[in-house]
Amino acid sequence: MASSSSSLPPSSSPSSTLVVFDFDWSFADQDTDRYVFEVLAPELRTQLREAKKTTQWTDNVAQHLVRLHEQGGTREQIVEVLQGLPVHPAMIRGVQKAKARTETTTRFLCLSNSNSVYINTILKHHHMENFFEEIITNPAEFLDNGLLQLNRRVDPSGEQHGCKVGCSANMCKGAELDAFMARHGGWESWDRVVYVGDGGNDFCPLLRLRSQDVALVRMYRELSRRIVKDAEASPLKCTPVPWGGAWEVEKWLLEN
Ligand SMILES: [Mg+2]
Repeated sequence: MASSSSSLPPSSSPSSTLVVFDFDWSFADQDTDRYVFEVLAPELRTQLREAKKTTQWTDNVAQHLVRLHEQGGTREQIVEVLQGLPVHPAMIRGVQKAKARTETTTRFLCLSNSNSVYINTILKHHHMENFFEEIITNPAEFLDNGLLQLNRRVDPSGEQHGCKVGCSANMCKGAELDAFMARHGGWESWDRVVYVGDGGNDFCPLLRLRSQDVALVRMYRELSRRIVKDAEASPLKCTPVPWGGAWEVEKWLLEN
């Protein structure tokens, strides 16, 4: 063929894109907190749901991890479960291809209410431990006795985030996104921000997005309902794009 790349119309892709990924039901095709108990201790999974009514979610999971440990649940069992947690191959393929594109710069941030052990274990299993610029989540670590100790990102004994949009006490995702931007040259250093999310706590960061930004919103889940419910009181400036399966995120990332 005689034509070369110089004869193609200019790409409509922005020169720098930050893709912000929620983790549960967004990057991963499951909920990490619930899945571990569903596989290892179904009775604790039932109790987790009961206690959700009265206990902050991160504290709730931390307390049930203590019970799992008391019942003999081991570090090795938890790691094995996480290695088997569903992450759709199309999601992995899509983000890796998007990052490898040479005509545009695309970087990735993970912003999640899961925890550092869950996310890092899963990413390592998929050979993606260095994929994200940062992983902003609740801190966790295995103690020498095998207990997975989990804490809120925002220490309950210190200053609280004061979010009025509805973020859980452990973390305000909107404030965390702003803080990330402050650490990385400000919002103006990104031509476009793409946010991939599904949960009610993804609504606050979406309110920070600009008119040139895009929200990839998983259908039939809390975030999509919240966007509709708050359309008048808290309209989005960014453009929402619905998706159902990982293949649609892959397709969008590679075509935009
Ligand atoms: Mg989620």
